[in-house]
Amino acid sequence: MKKTTLAIVVPCYNEELCLKATIARLLEVLRMLEQKGKIKEDSYIYLVDDGSTDDTWNIITEYHKRTHQVRGARFIRNYGNQKALIAGYESVRNIGCDCAVSIDADLQQDEMAIEKFIDEFHNGAQIVSGIRNDRKTDGFIKKNTALLFYKTMHLLGVKIPVNHSDYRLVSKKALDIMEEFDERYLFLRGFFNELGLKTAYVYFDVKPRMAGNSKFNIVSLTRLALEGITSYSIRPLRLVTILGFLMGFFGFLVGVETIIEKIYFNNSPNGWATAVILSCVFGGLQIFCLGIIGEYVGQVFREVKSRPRYIKSEELK
Ligand code: UDP
Ligand code: MG
Repeated sequence: MKKTTLAIVVPCYNEELCLKATIARLLEVLRMLEQKGKIKEDSYIYLVDDGSTDDTWNIITEYHKRTHQVRGARFIRNYGNQKALIAGYESVRNIGCDCAVSIDADLQQDEMAIEKFIDEFHNGAQIVSGIRNDRKTDGFIKKNTALLFYKTMHLLGVKIPVNHSDYRLVSKKALDIMEEFDERYLFLRGFFNELGLKTAYVYFDVKPRMAGNSKFNIVSLTRLALEGITSYSIRPLRLVTILGFLMGFFGFLVGVETIIEKIYFNNSPNGWATAVILSCVFGGLQIFCLGIIGEYVGQVFREVKSRPRYIKSEELK
Protein backbone atom coordinates (compact mmCIF):
# COMPACT_ATOMS: atom_id res chain seq x y z
CA MET A 1 0.00 0.00 0.00
CA LYS A 2 1.11 3.55 -0.75
CA LYS A 3 2.15 5.64 2.22
CA THR A 4 1.67 9.33 2.33
CA THR A 5 2.93 12.24 4.36
CA LEU A 6 -0.23 14.09 5.31
CA ALA A 7 -0.38 17.66 6.59
CA ILE A 8 -3.63 18.83 8.20
CA VAL A 9 -4.07 22.59 7.86
CA VAL A 10 -6.25 24.33 10.46
CA PRO A 11 -7.07 28.06 10.35
CA CYS A 12 -7.74 29.36 13.88
CA TYR A 13 -9.19 32.67 14.96
CA ASN A 14 -9.87 33.02 18.68
CA GLU A 15 -10.46 29.31 19.08
CA GLU A 16 -9.18 28.83 22.65
CA LEU A 17 -12.40 27.06 23.61
CA CYS A 18 -12.12 24.40 20.90
CA LEU A 19 -8.46 24.07 20.16
CA LYS A 20 -7.25 21.61 22.79
CA ALA A 21 -9.97 19.11 21.99
CA THR A 22 -9.44 19.65 18.27
CA ILE A 23 -5.68 19.07 18.36
CA ALA A 24 -6.10 15.97 20.55
CA ARG A 25 -8.73 14.60 18.17
CA LEU A 26 -6.67 15.28 15.03
CA LEU A 27 -3.61 13.63 16.62
CA GLU A 28 -5.80 10.58 17.23
CA VAL A 29 -6.90 10.60 13.60
CA LEU A 30 -3.24 10.75 12.49
CA ARG A 31 -2.40 7.83 14.78
CA MET A 32 -5.33 5.80 13.50
CA LEU A 33 -4.35 6.41 9.86
CA GLU A 34 -0.73 5.54 10.67
CA GLN A 35 -1.79 2.27 12.28
CA LYS A 36 -3.85 1.40 9.22
CA GLY A 37 -0.71 1.99 7.18
CA LYS A 38 -2.26 4.78 5.10
CA ILE A 39 0.03 7.63 6.15
CA LYS A 40 3.63 8.00 7.33
CA GLU A 41 4.69 8.79 10.88
CA ASP A 42 6.04 12.17 9.80
CA SER A 43 2.51 13.43 9.07
CA TYR A 44 1.57 16.52 11.06
CA ILE A 45 -0.96 19.21 11.91
CA TYR A 46 -0.26 22.80 10.87
CA LEU A 47 -2.25 25.47 12.70
CA VAL A 48 -2.42 29.03 11.43
CA ASP A 49 -3.30 31.53 14.12
CA ASP A 50 -5.08 34.27 12.19
CA GLY A 51 -4.25 37.11 14.59
CA SER A 52 -6.15 35.73 17.59
CA THR A 53 -6.41 37.90 20.67
CA ASP A 54 -7.07 35.03 23.07
CA ASP A 55 -5.01 32.04 24.21
CA THR A 56 -4.96 30.32 20.80
CA TRP A 57 -1.24 30.83 20.13
CA ASN A 58 -0.22 29.68 23.62
CA ILE A 59 -2.15 26.45 23.14
CA ILE A 60 -0.41 25.86 19.81
CA THR A 61 3.07 26.46 21.31
CA GLU A 62 2.28 24.23 24.25
CA TYR A 63 1.35 21.30 21.98
CA HIS A 64 4.33 21.97 19.73
CA LYS A 65 6.64 21.55 22.72
CA ARG A 66 5.03 18.19 23.48
CA THR A 67 5.02 16.79 19.98
CA HIS A 68 6.64 17.65 16.70
CA GLN A 69 3.43 16.57 14.98
CA VAL A 70 1.96 19.93 15.94
CA ARG A 71 3.35 22.92 14.05
CA GLY A 72 2.05 26.30 13.18
CA ALA A 73 2.43 29.97 12.41
CA ARG A 74 1.01 33.16 13.72
CA PHE A 75 -0.17 36.17 11.71
CA ILE A 76 0.59 39.65 12.97
CA ARG A 77 -3.09 40.52 12.60
CA ASN A 78 -6.39 39.04 11.48
CA TYR A 79 -6.35 38.51 7.70
CA GLY A 80 -9.43 36.33 7.36
CA ASN A 81 -9.91 32.62 6.86
CA GLN A 82 -8.93 32.46 3.16
CA LYS A 83 -5.53 34.00 3.85
CA ALA A 84 -5.01 31.68 6.81
CA LEU A 85 -5.77 28.70 4.57
CA ILE A 86 -3.46 29.94 1.81
CA ALA A 87 -0.68 30.47 4.37
CA GLY A 88 -1.25 26.97 5.69
CA TYR A 89 -1.06 25.41 2.23
CA GLU A 90 2.07 27.39 1.33
CA SER A 91 3.81 26.52 4.57
CA VAL A 92 3.13 22.78 4.44
CA ARG A 93 4.29 22.76 0.84
CA ASN A 94 7.57 24.32 1.94
CA ILE A 95 7.98 22.09 4.99
CA GLY A 96 7.13 19.04 2.90
CA CYS A 97 4.11 16.78 2.44
CA ASP A 98 2.47 14.62 -0.24
CA CYS A 99 -0.96 16.08 0.36
CA ALA A 100 -2.71 18.56 2.65
CA VAL A 101 -6.19 18.46 4.14
CA SER A 102 -7.77 21.68 5.45
CA ILE A 103 -10.36 21.53 8.21
CA ASP A 104 -11.99 24.08 10.54
CA ALA A 105 -10.75 24.48 14.10
CA ASP A 106 -14.20 23.84 15.55
CA LEU A 107 -14.22 20.38 13.89
CA GLN A 108 -17.69 21.01 12.49
CA GLN A 109 -16.67 18.86 9.57
CA ASP A 110 -16.57 15.16 10.30
CA GLU A 111 -12.86 14.48 10.80
CA MET A 112 -13.34 10.77 10.07
CA ALA A 113 -13.89 11.69 6.41
CA ILE A 114 -10.13 12.37 6.19
CA GLU A 115 -9.63 8.63 5.74
CA LYS A 116 -11.92 8.69 2.69
CA PHE A 117 -9.99 11.71 1.37
CA ILE A 118 -6.75 9.74 1.64
CA ASP A 119 -8.31 6.70 -0.07
CA GLU A 120 -9.41 8.89 -2.98
CA PHE A 121 -5.92 10.39 -3.13
CA HIS A 122 -4.43 6.90 -3.30
CA ASN A 123 -6.89 6.17 -6.10
CA GLY A 124 -5.33 8.97 -8.09
CA ALA A 125 -7.37 12.07 -7.23
CA GLN A 126 -5.31 15.26 -6.99
CA ILE A 127 -8.10 17.19 -5.30
CA VAL A 128 -10.79 15.80 -3.04
CA SER A 129 -13.64 18.19 -2.23
CA GLY A 130 -15.70 17.63 0.88
CA ILE A 131 -19.40 18.19 0.28
CA ARG A 132 -21.81 18.68 3.18
CA ASN A 133 -24.74 16.30 3.32
CA ASP A 134 -26.97 19.11 4.56
CA ARG A 135 -26.93 22.50 6.23
CA LYS A 136 -28.87 21.59 9.33
CA THR A 137 -26.42 23.40 11.59
CA ASP A 138 -26.75 26.72 9.74
CA GLY A 139 -29.43 29.24 10.62
CA PHE A 140 -32.14 30.23 8.14
CA ILE A 141 -30.34 33.32 6.86
CA LYS A 142 -26.94 31.68 6.47
CA LYS A 143 -28.38 28.64 4.72
CA ASN A 144 -30.30 30.72 2.20
CA THR A 145 -27.65 33.35 1.54
CA ALA A 146 -25.14 30.54 0.97
CA LEU A 147 -27.51 28.91 -1.50
CA LEU A 148 -28.05 32.24 -3.24
CA PHE A 149 -24.28 32.65 -3.52
CA TYR A 150 -23.77 29.22 -5.12
CA LYS A 151 -26.69 29.82 -7.51
CA THR A 152 -25.26 33.21 -8.49
CA MET A 153 -21.83 31.70 -9.06
CA HIS A 154 -23.34 29.04 -11.32
CA LEU A 155 -25.26 31.69 -13.29
CA LEU A 156 -22.00 33.59 -13.66
CA GLY A 157 -20.30 30.55 -15.05
CA VAL A 158 -18.16 29.57 -12.05
CA LYS A 159 -18.67 25.88 -11.47
CA ILE A 160 -18.13 25.33 -7.78
CA PRO A 161 -20.02 22.45 -6.24
CA VAL A 162 -22.89 23.55 -4.00
CA ASN A 163 -22.24 23.02 -0.29
CA HIS A 164 -18.51 22.60 -0.67
CA SER A 165 -16.82 24.24 2.29
CA ASP A 166 -13.09 24.63 2.57
CA TYR A 167 -12.80 21.02 3.75
CA ARG A 168 -10.67 19.40 1.07
CA LEU A 169 -7.55 17.46 0.25
CA VAL A 170 -5.05 18.88 -2.23
CA SER A 171 -2.02 17.07 -3.56
CA LYS A 172 1.53 18.39 -3.58
CA LYS A 173 1.10 18.93 -7.31
CA ALA A 174 -1.93 21.19 -6.75
CA LEU A 175 0.04 23.12 -4.13
CA ASP A 176 2.91 23.57 -6.59
CA ILE A 177 0.48 24.99 -9.13
CA MET A 178 -1.03 27.31 -6.53
CA GLU A 179 2.45 28.69 -5.90
CA GLU A 180 2.57 29.94 -9.48
CA PHE A 181 -0.60 32.01 -9.14
CA ASP A 182 0.33 35.20 -7.42
CA GLU A 183 -3.16 36.64 -7.22
CA ARG A 184 -3.48 38.26 -3.81
CA TYR A 185 -7.16 37.51 -3.39
CA LEU A 186 -7.23 33.90 -4.44
CA PHE A 187 -10.70 32.42 -3.89
CA LEU A 188 -9.79 28.85 -3.03
CA ARG A 189 -13.15 27.22 -3.77
CA GLY A 190 -13.10 28.59 -7.30
CA PHE A 191 -9.38 28.10 -7.77
CA PHE A 192 -9.04 24.38 -7.03
CA ASN A 193 -12.12 23.62 -9.08
CA GLU A 194 -10.84 25.42 -12.11
CA LEU A 195 -7.43 23.79 -12.22
CA GLY A 196 -8.69 20.78 -14.12
CA LEU A 197 -6.84 18.28 -11.95
CA LYS A 198 -8.51 14.97 -11.27
CA THR A 199 -11.11 15.68 -8.59
CA ALA A 200 -13.10 13.37 -6.32
CA TYR A 201 -15.99 14.20 -3.98
CA VAL A 202 -16.54 12.91 -0.49
CA TYR A 203 -19.79 13.53 1.40
CA PHE A 204 -19.66 14.26 5.10
CA ASP A 205 -21.93 15.26 7.98
CA VAL A 206 -21.75 18.66 9.63
CA LYS A 207 -21.80 18.84 13.41
CA PRO A 208 -22.75 21.81 15.55
CA ARG A 209 -19.85 24.07 16.57
CA MET A 210 -18.00 22.52 19.52
CA ALA A 211 -17.69 25.74 21.54
CA GLY A 212 -17.62 29.49 21.05
CA ASN A 213 -19.35 31.42 18.26
CA SER A 214 -18.98 31.51 14.51
CA LYS A 215 -16.10 33.77 13.50
CA PHE A 216 -17.98 34.98 10.46
CA ASN A 217 -20.57 37.72 10.44
CA ILE A 218 -22.75 39.16 7.71
CA VAL A 219 -20.03 41.66 6.73
CA SER A 220 -17.21 39.12 6.39
CA LEU A 221 -19.48 36.68 4.56
CA THR A 222 -20.56 39.38 2.11
CA ARG A 223 -16.93 40.32 1.56
CA LEU A 224 -16.03 36.69 0.87
CA ALA A 225 -18.92 36.37 -1.59
CA LEU A 226 -18.04 39.59 -3.45
CA GLU A 227 -14.37 38.62 -3.64
CA GLY A 228 -15.38 35.22 -4.90
CA ILE A 229 -17.53 36.72 -7.65
CA THR A 230 -15.20 39.50 -8.76
CA SER A 231 -12.14 37.29 -8.82
CA TYR A 232 -13.81 34.53 -10.82
CA SER A 233 -16.29 36.07 -13.23
CA ILE A 234 -16.47 39.15 -15.43
CA ARG A 235 -20.02 38.37 -16.49
CA PRO A 236 -21.54 41.09 -14.27
CA LEU A 237 -19.53 43.67 -16.23
CA ARG A 238 -20.80 42.28 -19.49
CA LEU A 239 -24.36 42.40 -18.14
CA VAL A 240 -23.85 46.06 -17.33
CA THR A 241 -22.82 46.72 -20.91
CA ILE A 242 -25.82 44.88 -22.30
CA LEU A 243 -28.14 46.62 -19.84
CA GLY A 244 -26.71 50.00 -20.81
CA PHE A 245 -27.25 49.22 -24.48
CA LEU A 246 -30.86 48.14 -23.92
CA MET A 247 -31.56 51.23 -21.83
CA GLY A 248 -30.09 53.46 -24.53
CA PHE A 249 -32.27 51.80 -27.15
CA PHE A 250 -35.33 52.19 -24.94
CA GLY A 251 -34.51 55.89 -24.43
CA PHE A 252 -34.22 56.32 -28.18
CA LEU A 253 -37.67 54.79 -28.75
CA VAL A 254 -39.22 57.00 -26.07
CA GLY A 255 -37.54 60.03 -27.67
CA VAL A 256 -38.93 59.18 -31.10
CA GLU A 257 -42.37 58.67 -29.62
CA THR A 258 -42.27 62.06 -27.87
CA ILE A 259 -41.27 63.85 -31.04
CA ILE A 260 -44.06 62.18 -33.04
CA GLU A 261 -46.61 63.10 -30.35
CA LYS A 262 -45.35 66.69 -30.36
CA ILE A 263 -45.36 67.18 -34.11
CA TYR A 264 -48.43 65.23 -35.22
CA PHE A 265 -50.74 65.25 -32.21
CA ASN A 266 -49.55 68.37 -30.44
CA ASN A 267 -50.06 66.62 -27.11
CA SER A 268 -48.36 68.34 -24.22
CA PRO A 269 -47.14 65.61 -21.89
CA ASN A 270 -49.01 65.15 -18.64
CA GLY A 271 -47.07 62.12 -17.40
CA TRP A 272 -45.42 63.70 -14.37
CA ALA A 273 -45.55 60.48 -12.30
CA THR A 274 -44.12 58.45 -15.15
CA ALA A 275 -41.25 60.89 -15.50
CA VAL A 276 -40.41 60.74 -11.81
CA ILE A 277 -40.59 56.96 -11.67
CA LEU A 278 -38.48 56.56 -14.77
CA SER A 279 -35.83 58.94 -13.54
CA CYS A 280 -35.69 57.10 -10.18
CA VAL A 281 -35.46 53.69 -11.82
CA PHE A 282 -32.77 54.78 -14.25
CA GLY A 283 -30.91 56.72 -11.56
CA GLY A 284 -30.91 53.63 -9.34
CA LEU A 285 -29.81 51.37 -12.16
CA GLN A 286 -26.95 53.65 -13.07
CA ILE A 287 -25.67 53.78 -9.52
CA PHE A 288 -26.01 49.99 -9.22
CA CYS A 289 -24.03 49.48 -12.42
CA LEU A 290 -21.39 51.92 -11.25
CA GLY A 291 -21.21 49.90 -8.05
CA ILE A 292 -20.53 46.70 -9.98
CA ILE A 293 -17.81 48.39 -11.98
CA GLY A 294 -16.46 49.84 -8.74
CA GLU A 295 -16.11 46.35 -7.27
CA TYR A 296 -13.92 45.31 -10.16
CA VAL A 297 -11.88 48.50 -10.08
CA GLY A 298 -11.36 47.82 -6.38
CA GLN A 299 -10.24 44.27 -7.15
CA VAL A 300 -7.78 45.55 -9.78
CA PHE A 301 -6.55 48.20 -7.34
CA ARG A 302 -5.83 45.67 -4.61
CA GLU A 303 -4.16 43.22 -6.98
CA VAL A 304 -2.04 45.82 -8.70
CA LYS A 305 -0.46 46.94 -5.46
CA SER A 306 0.66 43.34 -5.00
CA ARG A 307 1.14 43.66 -1.30
CA PRO A 308 2.14 40.51 0.54
CA ARG A 309 -0.90 38.32 1.20
CA TYR A 310 -0.12 38.08 4.89
CA ILE A 311 2.72 38.60 7.32
CA LYS A 312 3.73 35.97 9.84
CA SER A 313 5.09 37.03 13.18
CA GLU A 314 6.24 33.59 14.35
CA GLU A 315 6.51 30.09 12.99
CA LEU A 316 6.94 26.71 14.65
CA LYS A 317 8.36 24.23 12.16
N1 UDP B 1 -11.34 31.71 10.80
C1 UDP B 1 -10.12 32.34 10.57
N2 UDP B 1 -10.11 33.71 10.43
C2 UDP B 1 -11.24 34.46 10.47
C3 UDP B 1 -12.48 33.79 10.65
C4 UDP B 1 -12.49 32.41 10.81
O1 UDP B 1 -9.07 31.71 10.54
O2 UDP B 1 -11.14 35.67 10.34
C5 UDP B 1 -11.34 30.24 10.98
C6 UDP B 1 -12.05 29.75 12.24
O3 UDP B 1 -11.18 29.75 13.35
C7 UDP B 1 -12.47 28.36 11.84
C8 UDP B 1 -12.75 28.50 10.34
O4 UDP B 1 -12.09 29.68 9.92
O5 UDP B 1 -11.42 27.41 11.98
C9 UDP B 1 -14.24 28.58 10.07
O6 UDP B 1 -14.83 29.55 10.90
P1 UDP B 1 -16.20 29.33 11.66
O7 UDP B 1 -16.27 27.95 12.18
O8 UDP B 1 -16.34 30.42 12.65
O9 UDP B 1 -17.21 29.53 10.46
P2 UDP B 1 -18.61 28.81 10.21
O10 UDP B 1 -18.41 27.35 10.48
O11 UDP B 1 -19.55 29.44 11.17
O12 UDP B 1 -18.91 29.10 8.78
MG1 MG C 1 -17.56 26.46 12.06
